[in-house]
Amino acid sequence: MSLDTGVIGLGVTVSRGSCSLFNAICTIPAAFCPRRPCVFERKKGLYSAGNPMAPTYSDARSSATSPKLRVNTERIITRHPEFYFSDGSVVIIIENTAFRVHQSLLARHSEVFNGMWGVPQPQQAEKYDGCPCVDLQDSVNDFVDVLRVIYDAFHFDKIKPDTSLSALITFIAGILRISTKYSMQALRNKCISIIQDKFPSTLRGCDDVLARGIQYVPSEIVRIIPLARETTVPKVLPWAFYLCAHISVDEILANSVLSWSDKALCLAGKERLWAMQKTMTHSFLLDFKQAPACTTGCQGRMPRNLKLADIESLRINPHPLEEYTDWKTLMICVKCQAMAEAQHREGREKVWQALPTLFLLGTWDEIFKDQAC
Ligand SMILES: [Zn+2]
Repeated sequence: MSLDTGVIGLGVTVSRGSCSLFNAICTIPAAFCPRRPCVFERKKGLYSAGNPMAPTYSDARSSATSPKLRVNTERIITRHPEFYFSDGSVVIIIENTAFRVHQSLLARHSEVFNGMWGVPQPQQAEKYDGCPCVDLQDSVNDFVDVLRVIYDAFHFDKIKPDTSLSALITFIAGILRISTKYSMQALRNKCISIIQDKFPSTLRGCDDVLARGIQYVPSEIVRIIPLARETTVPKVLPWAFYLCAHISVDEILANSVLSWSDKALCLAGKERLWAMQKTMTHSFLLDFKQAPACTTGCQGRMPRNLKLADIESLRINPHPLEEYTDWKTLMICVKCQAMAEAQHREGREKVWQALPTLFLLGTWDEIFKDQAC
């Protein structure tokens, strides 16, 4: 893939030289740049010889053994203690940290880097410590996470069966962001498979996570929503929002991670889930209708022990996808139980099918189309 028609993430096509992605390779003439003054224009001096205003790496070159290199009066570059290899072939600078790594290794994992190295660099292109230099606009921590995966084949083995969901999200978040941005498809797929194991996109998967009794802590659930939006992983969103419906209204309003529009979706979805629970999946508990063939008068024998507090508890913690199994305690006839079980089963399927639309996420078909893997 060349950068001329580079695909970043899924379905987002960028033209070559998108300055927000790679300052060093932006070749859009300034007069035609749609984002002037763009990041590249402001930083271009770093790579332009002869510009009296341009900071240079001369100090860096003359102080090759120094861990901290003063580039100009305002910017001090520090070599990353773990990922600055003496035999590295390219230097990547993020914020004020320099990584000296191997071009071929990055290119092997990333279509974007692979295309980037194929772009001829001008003779006067600035170098750092004798290597071609690229300035990226990313998080140092995110990039370090990706380098750990690239340089350690067993990095993902650090995830254990008892790793908490919070630790899991922290583990994959940076890798997912970088792998999405730089089209590292294998790494992205790996992260997605890890997270989708906890956030199902099928009813069977939902039954599986419920059976496994995974502990979802609200603060952990919430973090996955902006991450999934940022990295185009919509398949996890319906289940994430479903879980968020169990967070109290006050907690949702006070949350500092969710956007206000997502908070509104959580609150609206909470009401919609409760409506489906009381009229579809669990209607037999609240408004029992006996089977037409019932001969034992089950209507009158149904326990009427659901108190207002019980109903209120269900309302603020709607869980229509919870599979009801206590049929025996209802003490209804076989015919009525069969009818109630069928309604419950069909109701759960309807709720699952409608789940994305309850939170204005489109349909499952649209979500699967948007996320190809
Ligand atoms: Zn009956």
